[in-house]
Amino acid sequence: MPTYGLPPVALVRGEGSTVWDADGGEYLDLIGGIAVSSLGHAHPALVEAVSRQVATLAHTSNLFLHEPEVLLAERLIGLLGAPARVFLTNSGTEANEAALKLAIKYGRTNGRTYFVAAENAFHGRTLGALSLTGKPSIRDQFGPFPVDVRFVPYGDADALKNAVTQECAAVFLEPTQGEAGVVSPPDGHFRAAREICDAAGALLVADEIQSAIGRTGHWFAHRHDGVLPDVLTLAKGLGGGMPIGACVGFGPAGTVLAKGDHGSTFGGNPVSAAAALAVLDTIERQGLLEHVRTVGARLAGGIAAIGHPLLAGVRGRGLWLAVLLTSGRSERVQTAARQAGFLVNAVQPDAVRLAPPLVITAEQADAFVAALPSILEAASHD
Ligand code: PLP
Repeated sequence: MPTYGLPPVALVRGEGSTVWDADGGEYLDLIGGIAVSSLGHAHPALVEAVSRQVATLAHTSNLFLHEPEVLLAERLIGLLGAPARVFLTNSGTEANEAALKLAIKYGRTNGRTYFVAAENAFHGRTLGALSLTGKPSIRDQFGPFPVDVRFVPYGDADALKNAVTQECAAVFLEPTQGEAGVVSPPDGHFRAAREICDAAGALLVADEIQSAIGRTGHWFAHRHDGVLPDVLTLAKGLGGGMPIGACVGFGPAGTVLAKGDHGSTFGGNPVSAAAALAVLDTIERQGLLEHVRTVGARLAGGIAAIGHPLLAGVRGRGLWLAVLLTSGRSERVQTAARQAGFLVNAVQPDAVRLAPPLVITAEQADAFVAALPSILEAASHD
């Protein structure tokens, strides 16, 4: 179906942060499969873990237990440092579907009937997650939705406070909005959201599908505010390219969904779970959180130091940045970058997203910074 339009390039191979197309063209991958390829391409640890698992036991369904899913759930809970329960899925949108079902059940047991989410939020394309997605262009034609969702401006604590009453079941929030263009709220907003939810008795659901697993230089972005959500959703970078997601319920939120309430044939399948374990181990073993902070700051600093009429600045944290433009030429920048050997993403008309593999080297980041002025120049002309 023509849902993606015609992609400009067919990729055939990757190694580290470099990918090659079908004609032998070489690119520095600065988008990493939309913040997914955390270890880059063909990382030996991922190759070994996936190969070993597929040769041992590729699938069980959830009628049976297997070791990688148990180890992965325990590993995530260990990193989160709080009592929790984990439901494993195949994707981000499914992690949010699980969170939404959990929140619906919590609401029904407590006389709570509606949900709050943020304008411009992106939570996924399936109908539950789409109902929480605050982008009219992709949402409206598929309504009406199964749940009542009220949208507030992102980062506006007063609006959030007014919207969250005793009838609100849950607030869904990205600690930083990825698809909106790597937009962070004012400092302390996530903490304010925690207090607002506590005062009203609503659940706080953090959608960290794009922001977690080292992307900002920390395991989880909500840690920047030092508070825990009730529910956390993960995907993307967790599997390093293998499809996996997770819905984590902390404390009592971990047991809202009971036996028979939810399920998935593939969710948490052994190969994807083994891949996720390899990702987490490698991030730790290679010291990638520190690396992300250092190389991310270098990349952002390099971009900020460029003077060009099309460049308005750079925002974001770690290896999750948006190059901001003075006009809506991001598609042109994306094309010019590709022609110069760099894959970037025109996430908004005036913002170009960078979410490279966490293993990108300082030299590779410098190469992009060196090329950016001529890319911007090429994108400035019709
Ligand atoms: N939530 C956030 C914050 C996302 O960025 C995305 C994908 O971009 C999703 C949910 C949906 O994840 P998926 O595309 O794996 O279904």
